[in-house]
Amino acid sequence: MSVSASGRPRASVLDFLDGSPTPAHAVELARSYLISAGFEELSEREVWTVEPGMRLFCTRGGTSIVACLAGELPPSRTGFRVIAAHTDFPCLRLKPKAAQALSGYSVLRAEVYGSPILATWFDRDLGLAGRLWLRAPDSGGGPGMQELLFSTGALCRIPSLAIHLDRQVNEEGFKFNREDNMLPVCGVGQEDPDLTGMIAESAGVDPERVAAFAADLYDVQPAATGGRCGELLLSGRLDNLAMCHCGLRAIESCPPGLHTCVLALFDSEEVGSRTSAGAFSNFLSSILERLAVPTTGKEQGMTGSRQDLFVALSRSMILSADAAHALHPGFGDRHDSSHRPVLNSGPVLKVNASMRYSTTAATAGYLRQCAGVAGVPVQDLVMRNDRPCGSTIGPILSSALGAASIDVGNPILSMHSVRETGGTADHEMMIRLMEAHFGPEVPLDPWIAPSRGSGQVE
Ligand SMILES: [Zn+2]
Repeated sequence: MSVSASGRPRASVLDFLDGSPTPAHAVELARSYLISAGFEELSEREVWTVEPGMRLFCTRGGTSIVACLAGELPPSRTGFRVIAAHTDFPCLRLKPKAAQALSGYSVLRAEVYGSPILATWFDRDLGLAGRLWLRAPDSGGGPGMQELLFSTGALCRIPSLAIHLDRQVNEEGFKFNREDNMLPVCGVGQEDPDLTGMIAESAGVDPERVAAFAADLYDVQPAATGGRCGELLLSGRLDNLAMCHCGLRAIESCPPGLHTCVLALFDSEEVGSRTSAGAFSNFLSSILERLAVPTTGKEQGMTGSRQDLFVALSRSMILSADAAHALHPGFGDRHDSSHRPVLNSGPVLKVNASMRYSTTAATAGYLRQCAGVAGVPVQDLVMRNDRPCGSTIGPILSSALGAASIDVGNPILSMHSVRETGGTADHEMMIRLMEAHFGPEVPLDPWIAPSRGSGQVE
């Protein structure tokens, strides 16, 4: 078991994956890790006083979190070093009136969140996880508290169709309608099941107290390592909880330094990021402003202008970390012939001429220098011209903040399947690469200098 800078044992990526069936659970786990590592929780509802060397974090909406290690120098002198990733992943989300009786079965109705490979959700043991908003016991129905919901064991299953009823399935593929044919079965019976009762029972609370809920289905099979030598990482939600875990490890172990390090983990990436806690929101920018424009402390009276934020951003570097496509051995023709990342050969640098990835030639140069310091190889990914390219929160943050950015990620197979495959060595290498980005060895200049000879850190 590894140990954090605070001397406490750190949770493994398998623990993090298993403990995070929803973004809310991932943020709650991140919260607990950060508190164990000596970070202080601050609220957006208060005015902050940030001292040099302070470790702090803040959540928004319960599904996004930003953690910071304040530098000894003001951000306007050094810039920010940011790592960004997303906490959400494709899944099935229960509709408000999800439970009904159908043909003698108790079924649930779920809405598709993001872009899962839906066929992979058939014939899996599925549990229920999410959040409950509970009425206070003596408030006459008024607001109470939130509680996380995490059913243990399989609550339902989406049955596929027997081959005898779909003879062409192996030749023509499994074709189905996502509304009519993809039904989670949670039992048998002629009566509509009591969904609130079921959820309350899973959470161990009185059904009368449930005022509202949000619940997703998740695959209950635990994350595992496999392969001949344990080199494969087998789990759902690798995209992108694995990168969230790497970022947490990097900021936990980051020693205090001159510059400010920031880890930003956002919800809503899989649905376009336009939510109050998504990458398009002002969550990160408002925190960077609080860090760059101090209201008290050493710099009081010397700075305090919003220009300090703009100066800081012009000196900053964002590392956007998201899963990358590994070469598929059975579908080699889907990949560019000379850019073919494979598992356990190191983090992948993503490039796209249409800037669906934020990497530029200069920021790629910076990343390679970080990789050299970390002692990890870097692989390159470019999509074929005849295949569409995905995107990440890198371009969103880079354009909104006006800061330099790089897109990287570890290679995985079966992206957006209910169970993906990654490499265990890649995970450790990504942590080292992120530590190098947060560390003092690699200067941001000249990679972000606006022109020759200027932009030097004073
Ligand atoms: Zn992703």
